Amino acid sequence: MKKVILSILGVVLLFALFILVKTITFKADNPDSTPVTPIEVTDDALLRLQKAIQFKTISYGYPGQPDSVEFTGFHQFLAAAFPLCDSLLEKKTIQYSLLYKWPGSNPSLKPIVLMSHMDVVPVDEGTLDNWEAPPFSGEIKNGMIYGRGSMDDKVSLMAIMESVEMLLQSGFQPDRTIYLAFGHDEEIGGEQGAGSIAKYLESQGVQLEFVLDEGGLVMEGLITGSDRPVAMINVAEKGYVSFELSITTPGGHSSMPTPDNTIGSLARAITKLEDHQFPYKSIPLLKAQMAKMGPYYPFTQKMAFANSWLFGKKILEVLNAHTTTAPTIFKGGVKDNIIPTSASAVVNFRVMTGETTEEVLQHIISTIDDDRITVKSVTNRNEPSPVSDFEASSYKTIEKTVQQLWPDMVVTPGLISGGTDTKHYQPISENAYRFFPIRVSMAGITGFHGINEHLATDNYKEIVQFYHLFIRNQNE
Ligand SMILES: [Zn+2]
Repeated sequence: MKKVILSILGVVLLFALFILVKTITFKADNPDSTPVTPIEVTDDALLRLQKAIQFKTISYGYPGQPDSVEFTGFHQFLAAAFPLCDSLLEKKTIQYSLLYKWPGSNPSLKPIVLMSHMDVVPVDEGTLDNWEAPPFSGEIKNGMIYGRGSMDDKVSLMAIMESVEMLLQSGFQPDRTIYLAFGHDEEIGGEQGAGSIAKYLESQGVQLEFVLDEGGLVMEGLITGSDRPVAMINVAEKGYVSFELSITTPGGHSSMPTPDNTIGSLARAITKLEDHQFPYKSIPLLKAQMAKMGPYYPFTQKMAFANSWLFGKKILEVLNAHTTTAPTIFKGGVKDNIIPTSASAVVNFRVMTGETTEEVLQHIISTIDDDRITVKSVTNRNEPSPVSDFEASSYKTIEKTVQQLWPDMVVTPGLISGGTDTKHYQPISENAYRFFPIRVSMAGITGFHGINEHLATDNYKEIVQFYHLFIRNQNE
């Protein structure tokens, strides 16, 4: 007996030792880069961003009717604010979107596209009191600039223009052609804007090395117990689809309810969907992300990352690595004493890489298992994006630029749940990266589309510095 206990103890100890060794030897492999002194960005850049925010280039619901005065006003402002971009680059206006071409000296190199969008989401009137400064003021207060677009996404549009203007001034000439593409309807799908720009480029026979868009950021406070920010370069995005579930029944009087109540049945279907979540999935991209971020966590979490074969599920949960199910609308009933004959609900799904919207539909039908309920999509069925190559030299250049400017940042590829305009470029670009160095705290993430959208003025200068160095780095 003693022998058995001793040998079990031995196995447990060996196991613990194995986990410990894996944890201790779990090291980050960050590329070495020599720090670079960033270009100086003057306060004039802030004034220009301030002006940009003041144009109410709002995208309301789909299909949008852009306010021509605001959008063309914004175009004229850009032309005046960045005279070298306006005169030295080839400019094309596509509806209310803008495409600039900066021809490279080496036509054998594939061009790249730096993307952004000029439209912003509306502001809910009822929340105006919760803003530190009016949402279309661009007011600067205590080192922060306030307003729609300060995070999403005039900030990157303006930073791209600032950096290109500075580079043109210094006589810089890119080796490869650089396009600047600014859509006007990203917030409502980007069909007319980025969609039309991508189609135009395709019609010109353009094949791209990569596109760089919004959709990645610098998360502060993500790694608990560490003050290293995480630069998340998102190389893939989940798919997007909303399905409406509707039920029709004979209804009836509420004094004689039957068990197959209209609302009750639909509610049961929704509950079934919530109870039968899609499984969590590991994909190579997430493994790479764990390897990049894991070593910087405090010991216990580091142990989990280092031994993801054992603790993988927990980590995948944290990374939200599955198709998510979110009921968002529920409608039914007209009077308190009538059982309605119909009810409907909408459930939004963000589809995990490797799965399809068709699989989501089949999952709904088999899970709810109720013939009375019909299911149909009420949005575009956007499939998950391909995973862009995070070993490619174009990715490495983003990584290197970040490390040169901010050696303390942990740079990792990642997966984003939200959609960006990059989807429109899939036919002409194998790789799409989503990143610019906007610093966001865990609490500050609500600024995207939320109340009190704002950005630190120092961070804006960093974003300009990033694009400036990134473009220069293309020439190596
Ligand atoms: Zn955006």
